[in-house]
Amino acid sequence: MDIIRNDKQGAKVKLERIPTTPPKKADKDAAKAEFDALGEELFDLQDLLWGAKMNSVLIVLQGRDTAGKDGTIKHVVGSLNPRGVSVTSFGVPSTEEREHDFLWRVHLKAPRQGEFSIFNRSHYEDVLVARVNHLVPEPLWRSRYQHIRDFETLLSEHGTIVLKFFLHISQEEQEQRLLAREEEPRKAWKIAAGDWEDRKHWADYTRAYEDVFARTSTQRAPWHLVPSDAKWYRNLVVARAVAEALRPHRDAWQARLDEVGKQKKAELRAWRKKR
Ligand code: ATP
Repeated sequence: MDIIRNDKQGAKVKLERIPTTPPKKADKDAAKAEFDALGEELFDLQDLLWGAKMNSVLIVLQGRDTAGKDGTIKHVVGSLNPRGVSVTSFGVPSTEEREHDFLWRVHLKAPRQGEFSIFNRSHYEDVLVARVNHLVPEPLWRSRYQHIRDFETLLSEHGTIVLKFFLHISQEEQEQRLLAREEEPRKAWKIAAGDWEDRKHWADYTRAYEDVFARTSTQRAPWHLVPSDAKWYRNLVVARAVAEALRPHRDAWQARLDEVGKQKKAELRAWRKKR
């Protein structure tokens, strides 16, 4: 199985049954070539999206510590034109953010028409870390699934293409990555005791994520569970999913731009005649 696209509310996922490694048939060199081609395609699609201003794109990246959210942004989003992309990292809410509803800070960063917004962590932290660390009472975090579904439906009805990715790594891979951070001088700044502490809650996070997938997967805002132990494969899967979601819009965007082009030409002709 290449990629798991969960778009049915209520469909249960058992994370331990979802692979974290690439399928045996996946070939690294072929993946690199496909990834480069997808990068070009995404750049072109983004140009149409930007000009047509009929849609926008929201990419939500979630995953355990070291799952590779930043790496995915660097590689996949790196192929886009920065003109139309904003990246937001959601950390512990500030006082002002806490004094609003949990979606307030997120809605502010939703993409404008023609643009991409990338979320490094997101409103899902409010049903993940908030649940696992008992930051809010259970009835409160439970009520949030419905709010999240409604919020994403609202975005979608306003033309936002919502794509949610869970970067799925194994416990062993995470251990290797945490140890590697200590070894590598350029990465040591990222070390935090909290990351090792969080590993004690591995099973709690697994349950919390499984509930997220069951309760917030919809046709309009599907979850993609991405095998992420191998970075090259993770990047390929995310790029593929983004391209697949955008491709069906290409003709409509192009038609809008052709229409605008015709209007502009007519205006220019009229202007020349008057001279
Ligand atoms: P990365 O996100 O790349 O792993 P990091 O952990 O260093 O990097 P920070 O910006 O320092 O990133 O903070 C992220 C932290 O904020 C995480 O521990 C996350 O659980 C926490 N966080 C994010 N959203 C919330 C929230 N709504 N409530 C409580 N904590 C949150």
